[in-house]
Amino acid sequence: MDFWFKEKHTKNVEFSIRVDRQLYSGQSEFQRIDIFESVEFGRFLTLDGYMMLTEKDEFIYHEMIVHVPMAVLPEARNILVIGGGDGGTVRELTRYDGIEHIDLVEIDEEVVFASKEYLPFTASALEDERVSIYYEDGLKFIRYHENEYDLIIVDSTDPFGPGEGLFTKEFYGNCYKALTEHGIMVNQHESPFYPEDAYAMQRAHKRIVESFPISKVYQAHIPTYPSGHWLFGFASKTYHPVSDLNRRRWEDLNIRTKYYNIPLHIGAFALPGYVENMLRTVEVQ
Ligand code: SAM
Repeated sequence: MDFWFKEKHTKNVEFSIRVDRQLYSGQSEFQRIDIFESVEFGRFLTLDGYMMLTEKDEFIYHEMIVHVPMAVLPEARNILVIGGGDGGTVRELTRYDGIEHIDLVEIDEEVVFASKEYLPFTASALEDERVSIYYEDGLKFIRYHENEYDLIIVDSTDPFGPGEGLFTKEFYGNCYKALTEHGIMVNQHESPFYPEDAYAMQRAHKRIVESFPISKVYQAHIPTYPSGHWLFGFASKTYHPVSDLNRRRWEDLNIRTKYYNIPLHIGAFALPGYVENMLRTVEVQ
């Protein structure tokens, strides 16, 4: 019998993967959590039926959300990750010996539990001694931190359900406050392609522009996300993501990556014209 995972990317577009078997299914206080195994994409995690990561393409998302800011600020010591209970972002961060501490704030303990059990390829570094895990709402956690983190990575779900608060003006303003003098905030920034995602992306960009003096957007190709064209936000107090990038300094760290490299870092900030227009429209409003 055929078993397919299906996700509606729009009312008229569906994405599907043939599933070999289901490894986990649970309903937490916040969302439904499923983990499947497939021939094409290996194991994959969905929350409320939306794709979070697959074994085959998660390296693209996690490398781009971590190494872009770390290459601009390799001296970052104290890091906050909001969301990201699968552990992929933490895994990439722990590759930097200079990082002293990582706080991971994940609202849903069951995501961490299921990832540790069934997604060892992303959860492998959650036991690193530099990592502290807090099971809290990131929106509330950030209210009580000031001048503390060199880098904040918002590795959230989409702007509805538990993730909604992580796309608000209040949240971005509090992230600014929680950052140190040269701090950087990076967030998963949705897709520009389908109108509903593009609207969420523009709304987030407008709020970030109002909260940070430097606010840029970069892109990556992630096959299992809607349209495959995904954006990240880079917001910063002082450093520009391209002109303050020091190629030698990052390459000397000898971190081996599969997707990220310095020329790609620079190129990722060169956006298609229609995306530039969407961003400009909200910047001048
Ligand atoms: N790579 C993913 C993507 O963009 O599809 C994100 C993956 S990660 C699994 C997202 C995590 O954010 C989920 O585990 C979810 O429970 C967590 N999350 C959602 N809202 C949150 C909140 N308000 N505070 C902390 N964590 C939150």
